[in-house]
Order: sequence, then structure tokens, then C-alpha cells
Amino acid sequence: MDMLIAGNWKMNTDLAGAVDLARQVVEGLPETGRVDVAVCPPFIALDAVGRVLDDKGVRLGAQNMFYEEEGAYTGEVSASMLRSVGCRYVILGHSERRQYFGETDEGVNKKAKQAIAHSLVPIVCVGETLEQREAGKERQVVEEQVRRGLEGIGSTSADQFVIAYEPVWAIGTGRTATSEQAQEMHAFIRELLQDQFGSDVASEVRILYGGSMKPSNAPELLAQPDVNGGLIGGASLKAADFLSIVRSAVEAAK
Ligand code: PEP
Repeated sequence: MDMLIAGNWKMNTDLAGAVDLARQVVEGLPETGRVDVAVCPPFIALDAVGRVLDDKGVRLGAQNMFYEEEGAYTGEVSASMLRSVGCRYVILGHSERRQYFGETDEGVNKKAKQAIAHSLVPIVCVGETLEQREAGKERQVVEEQVRRGLEGIGSTSADQFVIAYEPVWAIGTGRTATSEQAQEMHAFIRELLQDQFGSDVASEVRILYGGSMKPSNAPELLAQPDVNGGLIGGASLKAADFLSIVRSAVEAAK
């Protein structure tokens, strides 16, 4: 199955730093085979990074967008704006946005629909907190996020959206879900997708793992049958680490 490795640069890199990092990724990119590779720089660098990527095998993604077409929404960026700078992907509902900016499943749902309507591929992030996992509620939380986040999306094609399972306790903490924990939740998410989209679509939707994925743990995580790639935070800021994860995905996708 095709995989996706996407780098989430978060609020890191200025314009020059972003261009430099993008150059290093493009220059070191191996033959990617069945793996799509994307980087998601801050908004201010999208245009410049897009020019560096220039269809050389790495796609451009954004870290957020708003669901309205245009208008008086100070500080927001629309789907068509992202398309105009060459974005293919947009990360939606990242746990940091849920935690610090009050994002809700309803908002994520509106954004996902708007992204798809503009031929952007939303990477919809879901995942439980440590407290929720310790209370044994991780499936319930993820089920709600998946169902509400994707509600009303009558997708007929599996490449129209991507899910990223990112246990909040593993993001930026150095603590990674075990490959068993990841596989178990990914298989559960695929069952949920099956209910909504049927098995043909569900079996092909890419479900990424995110949460302290790095060169040392990527091979084992990516070897799990329902782990179809990674959303990489910290390790995507070092081209060598990011490229090493890409190589592991290329191996796993063979
Ligand atoms: C993320 O924020 O999407 C993420 C997975 O971060 P990190 O790899 O740093 O845990």
C-alpha cells in the first residue's frame, strides 16, 4: 500500500531556514517508490518552499486553514489560498490546535469538507491524552474524533483524505506508542472508516502514526500492517533524520 511521510515543521524556521531545510530534503531524497513525501512549513514560507520543491518529488502541505471561502476573517487562510501556492495537503485538527486554539471536531469537519472541495488532501489528526488513555477511554475518544471529524464526507476515493493517529502523550515527549499500541488503534480506526466509507475505501485510506517518530523507531512502526506512514514533528526539522524515516518507509512499502 502507498505510504505518506509528512513533516510538520510547526512554528519553526524563518523564511531562510525553511528554504534551506527544504533544499536539504530535496537534495537528499532517495527514490521514493510507493511513498509520498510532504513538508508542511509555516504559512510565511509556503510559497518559497513550494518553489524549492518544484515537483521534485516532495509535496507541499500547510498546517491549518479556515473553512470559509474568503472575507472578513482576520488572520485566517483559505483553502484556495493554499491551492494558489501549490499545497497538496493540509494538516487539520492537530492536538496542539485543539489544545491551544480551541479547535473542535465540528470545526475540523467543516475544514475537512472545504479542503476536499478544493482538492486539498486533509490530514485529519486524532488521538487521546494520557489521562484519557489511563482511564481506558482511548478508543471512545478516537472514535468520536473520527466520526465527528469526518461526518458527512461522502468520499468515494481513498486518496481524498488521510488520518493521522497521534496520541497526545507521545507528541514531542520522546515517548512513542509501542508498535502494538499503534497497530491496535490504526486497525480500530480502519474499522470505523469501513462503517462510513465501505471496505474498498477504508482498506486504502492512509492512516499515519505521529508522536516522536524518529529514525530509530520508524522501521518497526512502519512495518505494522495498518500504519501507512508518519506525521513527523521534531525529527522533520533535521533533514538527515527526516530522510532516514523516508528511507524506512520506502523499505516498508516494498
Ligand atoms: C506532531 O506534532 O505531529 C508530531 C508527531 O510531533 P513529534 O514528532 O515531535 O512528536
